[in-house]
Amino acid sequence: MLRCLCLISLALSCIGAVLENCDRSQSDRCRRISQEEAMHPRLNVPKVSFTNRASGYPHEKTSDYWINLGHQHVEVKINRRLNTNRAKNVVFFIGDGMSIATLASARVALGGEEKELSFEKFPYSGLSKTYCVDAQVADSACTGTAYWNGVKTNYMTLGVNAQVPLGDCEAALDPTTHTESLAKWALDAGKSAGIVTTTTVTHASPAAGYAHVADRMWENDSIVRKSGCDPNEVTDIARQLIEGPVGSRLSVVMGGGRAHLRDSSIPDEEGGFGFRNDSRDLISEWLNDGQPNKRYVWNRNDLLNLPSNTEQVLGLFESGDMQFYLESQERQTQDTEPTLEEMTRSAINILKKNENGFFLFVEGGRIDHGHHYTMARAAVGEAIEFHKAIEAARQLLSEDDSLIVVSSDHSHTMSISGYPTRGNDIFGTSDRTIAKDGMPYMILNYANGPIQSNQYSTSGRVNPESTDFSKWSSLYPFHVPLDMETHAGDDVGVFASGPYAHLFTGTMEQSHLPHLMAYAASIGNGPHNKKDVVLLNPT
Ligand SMILES: [Zn+2]
Repeated sequence: MLRCLCLISLALSCIGAVLENCDRSQSDRCRRISQEEAMHPRLNVPKVSFTNRASGYPHEKTSDYWINLGHQHVEVKINRRLNTNRAKNVVFFIGDGMSIATLASARVALGGEEKELSFEKFPYSGLSKTYCVDAQVADSACTGTAYWNGVKTNYMTLGVNAQVPLGDCEAALDPTTHTESLAKWALDAGKSAGIVTTTTVTHASPAAGYAHVADRMWENDSIVRKSGCDPNEVTDIARQLIEGPVGSRLSVVMGGGRAHLRDSSIPDEEGGFGFRNDSRDLISEWLNDGQPNKRYVWNRNDLLNLPSNTEQVLGLFESGDMQFYLESQERQTQDTEPTLEEMTRSAINILKKNENGFFLFVEGGRIDHGHHYTMARAAVGEAIEFHKAIEAARQLLSEDDSLIVVSSDHSHTMSISGYPTRGNDIFGTSDRTIAKDGMPYMILNYANGPIQSNQYSTSGRVNPESTDFSKWSSLYPFHVPLDMETHAGDDVGVFASGPYAHLFTGTMEQSHLPHLMAYAASIGNGPHNKKDVVLLNPT
């Protein structure tokens, strides 16, 4: 009887709830409902149902499809065997500024949300925490020091520990502050080493492998002098590349940045002059140091036609940074600008001549620059080129003896937002919801961005449909006006394939990555095998 009364009272309260008019009522329950609906709106029927798209996915409507996919995934994981071979070769790819949102956008741009980038097919992945010793949100110098050298340090400092304050002329001269890089460990073990980037070869990310400076901006002697330091005491990054104990031993150096290696009196192959102020031409000094089979190339054709006996190459394809891939397509400069994939292939072909193996660093350096300008198409375009380079490397090198690790240095503020329909153009507007100002909004937005963007007028937000977002250089919307869009502090992905790839899992300090690579390749001063490790649970 009591149970029956309870049921009746419950039913009445349900009827009461249904009858409550939430349009007029301000009850807690109504407020919760309206907040919940605002957070997770019931969307209109899509303009174009994904099943009606030319490349639609009707099979996704069945349970079997998803269950079979899941079962296959379980099987793949259960059958996976740990690869504990020694890594003869290590290739370390860094997508500068390649946030998780960049990866997801690149998948859609490649053809659909369900696509996988080449390195997303790798068997092991994890996350890297990117903060630096004095920075919640990092730059490419302190992160480069972490992932090349295994030591976290101060914002904008390079190849030195955190005892060196940013811009201190004297502190970084003390060799006890210097950190050792993966390239040094590989060279000391008799392997070859090389760097490839789409930025200047003296930019923070590659330079963390061979330079030790208190300021990443010191790419040439003129900048050192302008910073108030004496370039005769503080060796600039370009000189450390050509003369330094690691830089001078690199077999492959490819990217942009000729101007940092040449005096201002020396003309550049493509116009303009160098930036140096010491009368030096470090390119010809490198080429004419008496070692055999060295080649300097400055354009794509020369790179693709390197003589087969080439043992060392300095490829500098721009005076400054290399062009964005989409920019070179539009400007039809493909004859002078090799792609990241072409540089990677060429680098591996030269480095693999060493029977002891090699270490290669490859950077998709301008994903970061695209984001800084809020040029989302340029950033994602660079990420796709990065994915192609990794695919090529994995094809060229056996999983049996070659470890490939892919990560990023830091994130960016771009987000993927709204509730767009499956398959909607990721570079377009969210197609199912309208903003409170009555206008559509873009799916890709930045938390902050450069003030020269025209996303706001004095009367408020500009209707995105009146702006051309179709160009590689289109500026995407942002919230806070700054000089440039900033980095972001969220974690970045780590993806690994080959010997000891299973070590690259979980959430890691960014500075752990090189120590894991060193273990896999038996290089460096850390543990090289299980005998060197305290085994808590020996098996
Ligand atoms: Zn940046």
